[in-house]
Amino acid sequence: MKKLILKPGREKSLLRKHPWVFSGAVERVEGNPDSGETVLVRSSHGAFLGWAAFSPKSQIVARVWDFAEPTQIDREFFRARFQRAIGMRSALLDVSGTGGVRLVHGESDGLPGIVVDRYAESLVLQLGSAGAYRWRDTLVELLGELTGVHAIFERSDADVLALEGLEPSIGQRRGSPASAPIVFEENGLRFRVDLQHGHKTGFYLDQRDNRALVRSLAAGREVLDCFCYTGAFTASALAGGASAVTAIDSSAESLATAAAHMELNGLAGAQIVEADVFQTLRRLRDQGRSFDLIILDPPKFAPTAALAERAARGYKDINLYAFKLLRPGGLLLTFSCSGGVSRDLFQKIVAGAALDAGVDGQILRWLNAAPDHPVALAFPEGEYLKGLLCRAPT
Ligand code: SAH
Repeated sequence: MKKLILKPGREKSLLRKHPWVFSGAVERVEGNPDSGETVLVRSSHGAFLGWAAFSPKSQIVARVWDFAEPTQIDREFFRARFQRAIGMRSALLDVSGTGGVRLVHGESDGLPGIVVDRYAESLVLQLGSAGAYRWRDTLVELLGELTGVHAIFERSDADVLALEGLEPSIGQRRGSPASAPIVFEENGLRFRVDLQHGHKTGFYLDQRDNRALVRSLAAGREVLDCFCYTGAFTASALAGGASAVTAIDSSAESLATAAAHMELNGLAGAQIVEADVFQTLRRLRDQGRSFDLIILDPPKFAPTAALAERAARGYKDINLYAFKLLRPGGLLLTFSCSGGVSRDLFQKIVAGAALDAGVDGQILRWLNAAPDHPVALAFPEGEYLKGLLCRAPT
């Protein structure tokens, strides 16, 4: 039996069912396990703690698959975990008119390093740990069996791979590559997704409920969609009856898809602008423009807590200008997907921005990722997307 023996007192987080073992907590490794191989984790007193996947090159040297001693980590284990994750989605999500769903969300679904997104009749598998890499073929087979989906594309190219010492792995793993762009629905709107080159696995599925919220708030409003990517918020606002939407992004390629999405859904009224948001917000302010509904959904400014300060300046800047551009009674949906910026800190930054803009703002709602992106209570690091719906006074 290959084993990790922890240093005295370092079992505490595992006893709370947190799945990560940091290299500094390990006293010794026995049996020379391969990358990704299952190891038994024991405390310094010899107590059983869990079955984990060994990641020799990572600071997170092992990720626990299961905390129960009788469990075997085998094909049936992954089948049961997949069934549990997929079952939760079908039980809890209203997916009528929605073909884009995250079926498996890593650690928070008890499957460290494994993400699976469904886009209509295609699946995307994104692996991010040595353990997940080792089980790749089994995972692909099981997903085919359990979902009945024939096309499975692997898109293992997230930044975390470098930290795990793994090479990117991209390609069709089951079925034949799609000959045309994949089109799926979200709340009845149609979107195209490029599984190979799109951000993440192609689309920001985590914002589904917030786009539905925008749709419900948009009627008659003039909207500014900042960092619009392929225009999913813009389409939602127009579908909700927005009078006009200005959509800004710096990526010409994403904007071409955004324009295609407006056409695909028969939506008119979007002005799509290729520009830097930081500069454009200032320019709009100088031009005396104002809006009834503003969306700020920037990229990750701070992947780690160490970069939080620089990120805070970025968030402060765009939120300050957004508040300045809001009409009386206007609404701001503002987001951060930086793991390194806590919800608390984000709210403080937004409060500071409103204060400096001279807007006596209110929070109407705290916003989250959609429930197909759950956060395990034992794994608070799983929370990354946070947002606020704010209102300017009339
Ligand atoms: N709101 C989108 C997702 C946004 S992702 C959706 O719901 O689908 C972040 C986007 O910000 C990316 O498309 C990226 O091209 C864009 N971006 C990053 N930095 C930018 C900048 N300084 N100015 C404008 N766009 C930027």
